[in-house]
Amino acid sequence: MLTMANLRHVLVIPFPAQGHVTPLLKLSCCIADYGAKVTFVNTESIHAQVMAANPGLDEGSNRIKFVTIPDGLETDEERKDPTKMLTSILRVMPGHLQELIEKVKKQSNGNEDEPISFMIADLTAGWALEVAERMGIKRAGFWPASVSTLALTLHIPQLIEGGVIDNNGIALKNDIITIWKDLPPYKSNDFTWKCPEDPMTQKVFFQCVSSIPLYRKRSNSVLCNSFHELEASAISVIPGALPIGPLIASARLFHLRGSLWNEDSTCLKWLDQHPAQSVIYVAFGSTSVFSPEQFYELAHGLEQIARPFLWVVRPDLTDRPVTEFLDGFLQRVRNYGKVVQWAPQEEVLAHHSVACFFTHCGWNSTLEGLSNGVPLLCRPYFGDQFLNRSFVCDVWRVGLGVDGDENGVATRHEVRTKMLAVLGSEEIRANCLRVKEMARKSVSEGGSSLMNLQSFIKHTIA
Ligand code: UDP
Repeated sequence: MLTMANLRHVLVIPFPAQGHVTPLLKLSCCIADYGAKVTFVNTESIHAQVMAANPGLDEGSNRIKFVTIPDGLETDEERKDPTKMLTSILRVMPGHLQELIEKVKKQSNGNEDEPISFMIADLTAGWALEVAERMGIKRAGFWPASVSTLALTLHIPQLIEGGVIDNNGIALKNDIITIWKDLPPYKSNDFTWKCPEDPMTQKVFFQCVSSIPLYRKRSNSVLCNSFHELEASAISVIPGALPIGPLIASARLFHLRGSLWNEDSTCLKWLDQHPAQSVIYVAFGSTSVFSPEQFYELAHGLEQIARPFLWVVRPDLTDRPVTEFLDGFLQRVRNYGKVVQWAPQEEVLAHHSVACFFTHCGWNSTLEGLSNGVPLLCRPYFGDQFLNRSFVCDVWRVGLGVDGDENGVATRHEVRTKMLAVLGSEEIRANCLRVKEMARKSVSEGGSSLMNLQSFIKHTIA
């Protein structure tokens, strides 16, 4: 294995959300494995959650040291309002980050620590790259979603200029859009700032996403959690895009995923009791929220399929309480269904008993499904999940989508029909195995992603 004596002290900054902390923590582990010292910056609130959910996690005696900066909200303040959250982050975090870097520098004069000489920042927290530029620190961006999402995002100024979307990201034409001739066309329905449940959130989300083309200019390279064989054309149109994924946790690093909630590992023992490829795994990530009506339809769909299922039902998965319904449902499905509040998802997807993954198509979940060769049933909720669904169903052909009815609700009939179609499709299973093989190869010795990472470490960080 490549090891380097003189690697720098690297500061790593994710956007404060599960789907961003996890891949950047995995990347930090890879970099630390090559000998770099990593300081991982979480907001105080995320740090408290990670530490509470991972009691064995060491705050800093190994090569990854966890530090915190405030996000500007009170400790007990609600963090679900995106406008409040994003405004506060932009207002206070750049200043706190600068102070942190200066503090480490002062300490290093007293030889307690090495000064920070390189920064890797999530492009969705791209203000951090501006701080690094001002302070003369070398840097690289990190993109936690698909490269096809990045290609679309970087094209936002041209989409506005060309009258394809307005200044709030609303599609002005219901078209198929070709942004580069080498890329599959994008449907306006798949715009990655889409938030169908809430137009106000979509507006704020779009303002945030619109900064990314500017942030992108603050670094020469962008490390992407994807691999060449999966998204070759999108990668080819973004100068400096460096695919180093899929960032999957190896058994050794499972505890370093930075789950924000306690993982209920009883489900692994439950999976052990089931035959190969018999269980439907259902999980919609960390932020999807359903109406009770949608929740009931999903539940009835699973009940009617009458096959073993493991369903992650976060306490905040629905926007109104469903406790009474859930109690009755659990009673009815007790012989074949298990519900947990948060699962060790990567172990679940790697388990031989899992037959299919009913997912919201968050990019991490999508990659974790692909890397384990598990067919996907897709029910996106917001943002890039719609575009990911299109790639899963139409480009890689490793799954099917469930469609909403005239009210946008995926009915029990639709869930049952599409689930049975995915479970019965030889073609989908064959494609899944092919993509799994490509994913594994890309991060193995001599593989495209591993070589990109090694070259980045050797020529940029070392
Ligand atoms: N996850 C998990 N346990 C669960 C559900 C999700 O560990 O019960 C992890 C999952 O493995 C993934 C992340 O949470 O790494 C969710 O990220 P994703 O991009 O899929 O969705 P988001 O939460 O950002 O919508």
